[in-house]
Amino acid sequence: MKFTFVPEYRFNTFDMADADFLTDIGVKGIILDIDNTLEPYEHPLPGEHVIRWLNSLRDRGIKAAIVSNNGRERVELFNGELGLPAYYKAKKPFKKNLLRAMSDMGTSPDDTVLMGDQVFTDVWAAHNARIRAILVPPINDKRDVLTRFKRLLEKPVLKKYEKRKNK
Ligand SMILES: [Mg+2]
Repeated sequence: MKFTFVPEYRFNTFDMADADFLTDIGVKGIILDIDNTLEPYEHPLPGEHVIRWLNSLRDRGIKAAIVSNNGRERVELFNGELGLPAYYKAKKPFKKNLLRAMSDMGTSPDDTVLMGDQVFTDVWAAHNARIRAILVPPINDKRDVLTRFKRLLEKPVLKKYEKRKNK
């Protein structure tokens, strides 16, 4: 990947990356971030819309796995009903747990995509593992200083994405 931080795709919500789209871009497995990608931090369980979307992927033969930097309790509770391969304290942007997730799904970098809300965690991790990235805006963005600083750093990256897309 030439552009380490620039995602290959962007959507406004996770479920806009539907089974048709994923199939079109040759995806057989999707690695998912939880927090602010599928649900905000304060929702311990996946909502109806998350479950419906995951079912629609499964019906089309697309596998899913969770790779989260959050802790064991968060990930195990969230994944309880879903029963996906799941890794907590995953240390994204390091690729180790993305490779594990691919091995669980039986997919390879060419037919896997990662979806997350953070450029310097999720997108970077995807590219470290040589897989494509879908970036979604954080569901509930915090207004604290660190988050605002991170968003500021993301701005030129997102600009680059728009430039490449419009070529
Ligand atoms: Mg997140």
